[in-house]
Amino acid sequence: MAKAQLKELFFRDSSLRLPLVAGHGLKVTERTMRILITVLTGLFVAMLAAALLSQLWASRNQSLADESRLTLVDAERAAQNIMLAAAEPNVTGHLSLDQALLDKSVPIDAAAHDRFFILLDATGTIVAAVPHHANWNGKSVATVLGNDFVTHAMVNGSEMAPLVLASGEDAFMASRDLGKLPGSLLALQKKDDVLSIWRSGVAKLTGLFVVTLMVLLLLAGAFHWQAGKAFDADEMLSHATGRLDKALEGGECGMWDWNLMGDKIFWSMSMYEILGMKPKGDYLSFSEFSHRLHHDDARLDYLIDDLLRGKRKDFDQEFRMRHENGSFIWLRARAALAKGRASNDPHLVGIVFDISKQKQLDTLNQEAEMRLKDAVENISEAFVLWDTESRLVLCNTKYQQFHSLAQDVCEPGTPYSVVAAAAKEPVVQQFVSAERDSSSGARSMEVQFADGRWLQINERRTKDGGFVSVGTDITALKTQETYLLESERNLMVTVKDLQKERQFAEEQSQSLAELADKYASEKARAEAANRSKSEFLANMSHELRTPLNAIIGFSEIMSQQIFGPLGSSKYDEYANDIRKSGQFLLDVINDILDMSKIEAGKTDLELAPVQVGELIDEVLRLIGPRAAEGKIIIEKDLRKVPHFMADKRALKQVLINIMANAVKFTPEGGVVRLVVTHDKSIIRLQIIDTGIGIPPHDIEKIGRPFEQVENQFTKSKGGSGLGLAISKSLVALHGGKLIIASRQGKGTTVTVDLPIVADTASQAA
Ligand code: ADP
Repeated sequence: MAKAQLKELFFRDSSLRLPLVAGHGLKVTERTMRILITVLTGLFVAMLAAALLSQLWASRNQSLADESRLTLVDAERAAQNIMLAAAEPNVTGHLSLDQALLDKSVPIDAAAHDRFFILLDATGTIVAAVPHHANWNGKSVATVLGNDFVTHAMVNGSEMAPLVLASGEDAFMASRDLGKLPGSLLALQKKDDVLSIWRSGVAKLTGLFVVTLMVLLLLAGAFHWQAGKAFDADEMLSHATGRLDKALEGGECGMWDWNLMGDKIFWSMSMYEILGMKPKGDYLSFSEFSHRLHHDDARLDYLIDDLLRGKRKDFDQEFRMRHENGSFIWLRARAALAKGRASNDPHLVGIVFDISKQKQLDTLNQEAEMRLKDAVENISEAFVLWDTESRLVLCNTKYQQFHSLAQDVCEPGTPYSVVAAAAKEPVVQQFVSAERDSSSGARSMEVQFADGRWLQINERRTKDGGFVSVGTDITALKTQETYLLESERNLMVTVKDLQKERQFAEEQSQSLAELADKYASEKARAEAANRSKSEFLANMSHELRTPLNAIIGFSEIMSQQIFGPLGSSKYDEYANDIRKSGQFLLDVINDILDMSKIEAGKTDLELAPVQVGELIDEVLRLIGPRAAEGKIIIEKDLRKVPHFMADKRALKQVLINIMANAVKFTPEGGVVRLVVTHDKSIIRLQIIDTGIGIPPHDIEKIGRPFEQVENQFTKSKGGSGLGLAISKSLVALHGGKLIIASRQGKGTTVTVDLPIVADTASQAA
């Protein structure tokens, strides 16, 4: 059924298709029609029955009336005939009322109509009756007509009177008097007889009615049966259409039937769906169809032309059509030529699939394949993939190069045996794990080619039964491996050497430890010696100063001749020399004591606010006489300098030492300048002389204890060589520094930089 119906559904002429498509509307109309026709038929039958009944009733009444009238006429005629017979001239006396009289008086055809004529005498006895077979003669009228007769009998009435006969039958009766004659004439007709003719009419009419009714019922039944079938067919078609539309929609395909001679293309609902169009009916104009075609797919025309010319038998084409949203969707149409139903026009009948997703998928697949190929091509390994039947699926250039394969051997589908035969045989073939792993089918091997290159090949079964092989160039690794082996050997040698070195180092460190021990003990001994030296110097200085003070004191007393004249000028001279030498010795001893104290770290500074001006004045008071003695000019350049914290006695000693040197090493007429400046953090004291200066190579050592520059001054002026060393140490104890700059023959500048330690107490005060 399905094929035929589907064909019918889609390929019948438009005039027939329209009601099918509008199936729902049809159902409503048909149902109404069916109800209407049923109602109308019922109405018609009811009206016909009512008309028939009324007609029958009317005809019954008419029949009764007609018969009654005719019976009355016949009764009247019979009575008239009897009375005429009595009036005839040959009748003398009373006419006898008998059968003969009645027979000749009753009209000939009256009895034929089942009418009874009864002649009664004056006593009410029936004397004659027609027809004869009634056999009522001699009977009382009451025994025939029943008791109602008396009450119903109306003589000469204008109508027949109804009554019930003694036999129980319904009847009508008319009574006529006979003028002068003693008796009366009764005309009687049984109701059944009256109605018998009517009944035969009724039977005919009823028969006609029944036949009509049956015909009507048959027609209505036929209509209903036909309509039911049509409805069922419509339902089936509607379902089939729905199912087909659903199937087409679900399958993302549509149907079309293109009359190639016309401009119309039958277009299934799903086609509209696919193109996102609003359904416009079953047909689409060719111009709209071609308007939606992608301009690159216009060759569709040529294909159709070929079909029409018989150059091709079917049509299977992919093309693009514009979706309602403007995008193009890919369709695949498969169609065949067929003849139209109504005309013989060629139709292109077929199915259209929406293959946009498939196209997208194809594009994605192609891209993925391209990417895969690209990736495989660009990996640093040689790659090859074989299918289940050991045919080549994919390999990269590196694989070709490694095996020196020609391009035609590397085409997909080439059997493994062909590729293997064409491949260059490796020189060494070493299997790292030669046995295939039974579960994964994996195998690994290392091969070397004639040109020295090494390749590690890893083979593995793929899920579909083929296998994949990846070859890694391990030449560098192999070289590295060889190099590493060589290195390892070297390393072993080195390790041995190192072990020896280590042993040697251990021995050395042992001796070093011993040396360190020795050094520590030597150091301890030296420190002890230094300590004892310092203690010795301190003690010795102390021990020397007491007798020296006595020598100096006594020599002064002697030179001043306090206890009387010495007697000789030579004694005076010697006494002076003793005093001077004693004083010098005392100075040297004091210097040695100070130096040893500093070295022993026993010098503690007593910091107190110092006013530079006062300090310098004190120094100059001491140095002034010596300068004057040597005819040396002293200049001072003092800026306003803030108070600062220092050990005044130590600072004074520093300045005296430096000033004394400047005066000592400056020839007569020279100048010694004392300049004091400061900035935020430093007070700078500079003693600049125009003396003999210090040779450059001696500047380095000046300031170290007991260092002196060998010259006539040092020879003549003496000195311990400790003054600058003490000064440097004292300045360093203050956190400052002492710098000596000198040019031989030009003069010397000694700079003392002292940090300004704020006198918080005095400033606060
Ligand atoms: P001394 O007591 O011998 O002067 P110093 O330590 O004070 O010891 O000086 C060491 C040496 O530095 C001096 O002997 C001298 O040769 C040299 N010297 C020091 N000051 C000056 C100076 N202003 N001009 C030249 N030479 C100097």
